[in-house]
Amino acid sequence: MAGHLITFEGIDGAGKSSHVQHCATLLQQQGFEVVLTREPGGTELAETLRSMILSQPMDWDTECLLVFAARSDHLNRVIRPALARGAWVVCDRFTDATYAYQGAGRDAGFDRIAVLEQFVHADLQPTRTYWFDVDPQVAASRRQSRGADSDRFEREAEAFFAKVREGYARRAEAAPQRMLRIDGGQSIDAIALQVQADLLALAHRMQAGPA
Ligand code: ADP
Repeated sequence: MAGHLITFEGIDGAGKSSHVQHCATLLQQQGFEVVLTREPGGTELAETLRSMILSQPMDWDTECLLVFAARSDHLNRVIRPALARGAWVVCDRFTDATYAYQGAGRDAGFDRIAVLEQFVHADLQPTRTYWFDVDPQVAASRRQSRGADSDRFEREAEAFFAKVREGYARRAEAAPQRMLRIDGGQSIDAIALQVQADLLALAHRMQAGPA
């Protein structure tokens, strides 16, 4: 039995990380093996690359290549083996983030990201992606209230996040079956109910098998 990859996406401060753990717990309660992970990161090497990507100044092409290098290690060591065991992998960000941040935010273009995606995981897409869509101004004030030290991306101006949001919108338009837009302006409780209802319905469909 093959497992499923569930990803969470959105601009920094959209509110996605508040729901990742809940979703993992919900799937565990349904009796599934769950692997909770994040990108960039998820392995020792990929976490080392993450800290470089988040802290060191670099060109967008270097950024793209490092993100996909981290992803390749993560896929080979964690995600693919977990999916082969039948586990559900719940991942905070995946390739849609590269399309949105580097492709749209950094103006690298979607075509270049698509080449790297083909190289690293031509065979694999998430089963479901929750896209937390929120106004960049709202996200900025949430980041401020979170209070932690900001990384290279979080320090970007609102115009950058407007482009990233547009990138996510393009991705969602191109994959409406996979990507579910969540209105991130709702309360945390309302969002949790929406995400949980969708995830439970998905889990039951997957358990039932193909119609
Ligand atoms: P992300 O992972 O998308 O960067 P977080 O989940 O870390 O965002 O949320 C950023 C901040 O906003 C946190 O302090 C969190 O408590 C708060 N937050 C998250 N979701 C909401 C929401 N729906 N309404 C108000 N505040 C929220």
